[in-house]
Amino acid sequence: MKYLIGNHKMNLSGSELTAYFKELKKVAKQSENYVGVCVPYVYLPLANKMCKKSKVHFGSQNMYFQPKGAFTGEISANMLKEFNTELVILGHSERRALFGETDELINQKLITTLKEGFTPILCIGETKEERESKQTNKVLKKQLVGALKGVEASALNKMFFAYEPVWAIGTGISATKQDAEKTIKHVKETIAKLYDLTNLDNIIVLYGGSLNSKNVNDILSQPHIDGGLIGGASLKVDEFKKLIDYKG
Ligand code: PEP
Repeated sequence: MKYLIGNHKMNLSGSELTAYFKELKKVAKQSENYVGVCVPYVYLPLANKMCKKSKVHFGSQNMYFQPKGAFTGEISANMLKEFNTELVILGHSERRALFGETDELINQKLITTLKEGFTPILCIGETKEERESKQTNKVLKKQLVGALKGVEASALNKMFFAYEPVWAIGTGISATKQDAEKTIKHVKETIAKLYDLTNLDNIIVLYGGSLNSKNVNDILSQPHIDGGLIGGASLKVDEFKKLIDYKG
């Protein structure tokens, strides 16, 4: 089984999403894979209503770590829980680059999501410059160490990791299957080392970055890649279906 999770970012209107979920539920019903979609906050009530009793898991694209208070524009765990939100994307590269999110803030959010029973999707990834100067593994380790501070080993199988090279997000240029496999294996080994684990099986790492119907078979066929976090190709059910229908 593979995990196919869409990140809608700031796209689709409420009426488009209504039509989308109607189709996606049928697709998910026929698939053996795990299907998820992370929508803008305002559509969580809609997702909750439409995905109830279906195989579609849904979630938000962020969350704030404080329970309540003077945090204009932010959304708390309890607010997400009110609509049965299951998944929460954290540390997406767009949040890091455009909204200044630091490893320290992401760590606070990660601890809160785990404590509150969500399934966080922790995104990590290097920029083009970091890759070209051979800093990839160093950058990923720093992001992992920063985000996982104070997180118990027992939480590792209650979350997803998403390796998303920044240069591959929304560019149409995905990592090669060899590169994605090598880096994801390294990510799993890095996490295992941090926790003194010998078994990598409980660490789920998705690949993200221009995954689409043309490269999905190549990339998901790799042994350490457990699924995908999918932006652009998740916005139309017809295209997303081609990824969801992946058979290993
Ligand atoms: C993402 O934003 O998480 C992502 C992987 O986007 P895309 O598939 O469009 O590259």
